[in-house]
Amino acid sequence: MSKFSDFNFFGYKALVRVDFNVPLDDKFNITDDTRMTATIPTITRILKDGGSVILMSHLGRPKDGPTDKYSLKHLVNHLHKLLNADGGNTTKVFFADNCIGEQANLTASTLRAGEVLLLENLRFYKEEEKGDKAFAEKLSKLGEVYVNDAFGTAHRAHASTAVIAQFFEPDKRMFGLLMESEVLSAEKVLHESEKPFTAIIGGAKVSDKILIIENLLERATDIIIGGGMAYTFIKARGGNIGNSLRENDRLETALDILEKAKQKNVSIHLPETSVIADKFAADANTKDCPSDQIPDGWMGLDIGPKAIGIFSEVIRNSKTILWNGPMGVFEMEKFQNGTKSIALAVADATSKGAFSLVGGGDSVAAVNQFHLAEKVSYVSTGGGAMLEYFEGKVLPGIAAIKD
Ligand code: AMP
Repeated sequence: MSKFSDFNFFGYKALVRVDFNVPLDDKFNITDDTRMTATIPTITRILKDGGSVILMSHLGRPKDGPTDKYSLKHLVNHLHKLLNADGGNTTKVFFADNCIGEQANLTASTLRAGEVLLLENLRFYKEEEKGDKAFAEKLSKLGEVYVNDAFGTAHRAHASTAVIAQFFEPDKRMFGLLMESEVLSAEKVLHESEKPFTAIIGGAKVSDKILIIENLLERATDIIIGGGMAYTFIKARGGNIGNSLRENDRLETALDILEKAKQKNVSIHLPETSVIADKFAADANTKDCPSDQIPDGWMGLDIGPKAIGIFSEVIRNSKTILWNGPMGVFEMEKFQNGTKSIALAVADATSKGAFSLVGGGDSVAAVNQFHLAEKVSYVSTGGGAMLEYFEGKVLPGIAAIKD
């Protein structure tokens, strides 16, 4: 592979896989353009070098071929605006209404330095998700170098994210700037972590997080478990959890994780206290309660003040921090104090020199909601991809560039 920042794109047509899978309202307005803005530095760098850019992406989950609702044509104007934000209005953006075929080939071949071509939704072909080799080869013909900047789909072995890489010489394939920083941050946490290394794992279900916890048992010094999943552990240890969320078929797994942690000398921290509620609602009655003595009819919806104190202390003493999943039902104001306090502790540790990585949809939403995104070391854009990376899996999108 080549290193993006060392590559001179002068005279090259770069085929760039991006993740433009943005949410659109019913009038096709983009309601959150984070995924587009995240990859603009990659595009502008290629253009500034004197190269041209052919962008390919998916949008939504079209089931039966081309569908207006999922057309990437709805993104062209906004892309043009983002690329001409300096007011120069010099960057032209073309659109091909098919990602392969005559029009795509012709527009790509006549594209000039400084110009951008956006291809129609890759998933209008079922071959994309199937990882079809012939389809990948057709796409590969559109560009001379391949740049993958779509970390959000790096865990998929699709035609445009992985299979396509084999049609480029190793020195003509590379990560884009976004993907490169995602991979570097993730590798830093998983393979070069300075100790103490604390993983904070929260969210609703143990079953979704078993693999990540098991892999982190090999690397972390401390694992903080909060959110709904904590109650399965507390119940497994014999506690009364009232009506809190639990997975009765995971009690054995929870005990197994606690036992393995003991053997490996990893400290697992469960919330000693909880904010309990008499119903799952924003206007519920609440009180503070030991997490293993929750009365029937009540449920733990956030970590309590004592748990916040203990967790924050562990976090503040850490040199590496990975955070995935909220500590409570942070969408409701009454139950957001735990998640907010943990976010503040992570920010505080970061200001004292720790490296902190926040990944996964809900924890990213939380740091954004509390305006703390700038105060952590890295906020990942890839939910599923990040989770699979920390589960120890090889991500096809990364492997294809590196191999
Ligand atoms: P996940 O997608 O597994 O990361 O879970 C995130 C969801 O877990 C959020 O919507 C939270 O509201 C929810 N959650 C966190 N803590 C609790 C809890 N104690 N009880 C029920 N749901 C929770």
